[in-house]
Amino acid sequence: MTNYSYLINYLNERKVKLVAVSKTQPASAILEIYNAGQHIFGENRVQEIIEKHPLLPDDIEWHLIGHLQTNKVKSVIRIVKLIQSVDSFKLLREINKEAKKINRVVDVLLQIHIAHEETKFGFNYGEAKEILMDGDLRNMKHIFIRGFMGIATFTDDADQVRKEFRELNNFYRLSAQYKGSNFNPDILSMGMSGDYEIAVDEGSTMVRIGSLIFGKRENKAGGTN
Ligand SMILES: *Cc1c(COP(=O)(O)O)cnc(C)c1O
Repeated sequence: MTNYSYLINYLNERKVKLVAVSKTQPASAILEIYNAGQHIFGENRVQEIIEKHPLLPDDIEWHLIGHLQTNKVKSVIRIVKLIQSVDSFKLLREINKEAKKINRVVDVLLQIHIAHEETKFGFNYGEAKEILMDGDLRNMKHIFIRGFMGIATFTDDADQVRKEFRELNNFYRLSAQYKGSNFNPDILSMGMSGDYEIAVDEGSTMVRIGSLIFGKRENKAGGTN
């Protein structure tokens, strides 16, 4: 909790939004942070959001930050406020299709693969640019792309991490030229417990922080799935 107070002051001063990453945490732990004033929570598994959200206050804003399979879009679309982890055009189509059925426009971020690690999901810059330029995107009236999410390399090399965040911020800023009816970038989601200060320094508008708030997760495999 002391970490939370410090963190929220630091971020508020810099006008950066906090997503408290509550994966693997029980509803009771989430409620404690909620009561301290936090209303945005991030989960990386559909199943966990489905299980926890009925146990918690209605005004929580849930973000999905982990890989989403197309066959699970339907079950989570009514619950989530922002899907940060769109990593294929097929997924974008599916979200649009399901959002249309419930007559909503769903906010999403494109996940960009910025790390020097094979295992992480996401588009490279070229692929993301193609999507933003794709004529089909304009016909998807039930999605709105708010920006990008990236996970830096898990390393002690701060220069490497800084470089990755800087490139993503450059892309974010340059992408404004593709603005259209369903793309207008105002969210750059980058920074986690170990690298949020660098991310904020490099222009992040939204950080996703778990272990610094809730303590270390038992299952360190928590990564992206
Ligand atoms: C787990 C996770 C985080 C938070 O990680 P911490 O190191 O606990 O802050 C952020 N983003 C994504 C996509 C995650 O899966």
